[in-house]
Amino acid sequence: MTTYWCSLAWLGGPRPEQGVEIEVEAGRITAVSEGGQAPSRDGRHLHGLTLPGLANAHSHAFQRALRGRAQGDRGSFWTWREQMYALAERLDPDGYLALARATYAEMALAGITTVGEFHYLHHGPGGAPYDDPNEMGRTLIAAAADAGIRLTLIDCCYLHGGIGEEPDGAQRRFSDGSAEAWAARVDELDESESVRIGAAIHSMRAVDPDAAAVVAAWARERDRPLHAHVSEQPAENEACLDAYGRTPTALLAGAGALEASFTAVHATHLDDADVASLGAAAACCCVCPTTERDLADGIGRMRRLVDAGASLSLGSDSHAVIDMFEEARAVELDERLASGERGHHTSAALMRAASEDGHACLGWPDAGRIEPGARADLVTVSLESVQLAGGSSEHALDSVVFAGGARDVRHVLVDGREVVVDGRHTSIDAAEHHEAILRAIE
Ligand SMILES: [Zn+2]
Repeated sequence: MTTYWCSLAWLGGPRPEQGVEIEVEAGRITAVSEGGQAPSRDGRHLHGLTLPGLANAHSHAFQRALRGRAQGDRGSFWTWREQMYALAERLDPDGYLALARATYAEMALAGITTVGEFHYLHHGPGGAPYDDPNEMGRTLIAAAADAGIRLTLIDCCYLHGGIGEEPDGAQRRFSDGSAEAWAARVDELDESESVRIGAAIHSMRAVDPDAAAVVAAWARERDRPLHAHVSEQPAENEACLDAYGRTPTALLAGAGALEASFTAVHATHLDDADVASLGAAAACCCVCPTTERDLADGIGRMRRLVDAGASLSLGSDSHAVIDMFEEARAVELDERLASGERGHHTSAALMRAASEDGHACLGWPDAGRIEPGARADLVTVSLESVQLAGGSSEHALDSVVFAGGARDVRHVLVDGREVVVDGRHTSIDAAEHHEAILRAIE
């Protein structure tokens, strides 16, 4: 058993608690006591604010290689997508392993203990399956294990280049040809203590309603998380309305997808009926504000989804940056810009989206909380940086959510294992990140 003594820890309330002792055994938290007792002599001291593990609920690991390389030109989501496809056409399993390892290690350094990888880069160039048709998925599983974080491989069904269109170019690497073939391939992937297998409908542009129903049934029968990109762009809504006379959310409802285990990624351009049906299903909405602003997607109005009954999670998606504090505050700050009002989401609610609710939408209901029985994930954020200087203990959560960043994360425990110590990854060094990214982009 290891005892951690935290000068401050957030246990889920509106404010952090002082002097919290946390006992960890066999990867689980076994006891939590508050009240500022003197630190036990043999315990480890965690100075700063200790949080539960953070969940990055929407990732495309390979897109990390585009950071800093897709700025400056006039364009839109659709012109950015061409650059992303050019990268997707080049990657092979070895290059992908190095790149994903570096990306997931960067996540660990940012306090992320579970990643939800929305995985569609399945097959070889031109769409030819690898000898193991799940080679790319297993590559991601290996990368997360190397980086020391848990993974939900959200394997994504992708069949069409657009509604009624065959996949073209890089898109051929994404497609299994049919939802049945997708299901047969995904059934070959095994779960473990640190890996879950989930399902995704890429979008209602890339999956027709009948195929979407097959994917939704697969997830329901196996009790797996189901995710889909939903209304990221107005053009996606228009294409669905033109072809089917229904919004993407209404089509997903018709396919049987809208349940509490469903996550709508982005949920940016919704009408009132979409909001009501996602709320009534108690679905999760995964917001990815740093990517949404990078791609000029628009501003999601998340307060109305929460009011309707939905939960929120957060994702760094294209990895324009990997910083869950930046994602969390952007949910509130973007809504301020769009509404002219402050105070839509509290720091505690934003932190819950980044931890407990993020983990729940990835199929880890026993993670993301500091309480007995939960997985022993602890993320300690230093309060001693210049940026956070002068804050009070009482307001430390507000300080970290609204002014902190990934750089302030000093110590990360995942399932009781130390993955980041004093701001350094315990097994992957920074030079490896640089090499992996250059190799992917060359
Ligand atoms: Zn995405």
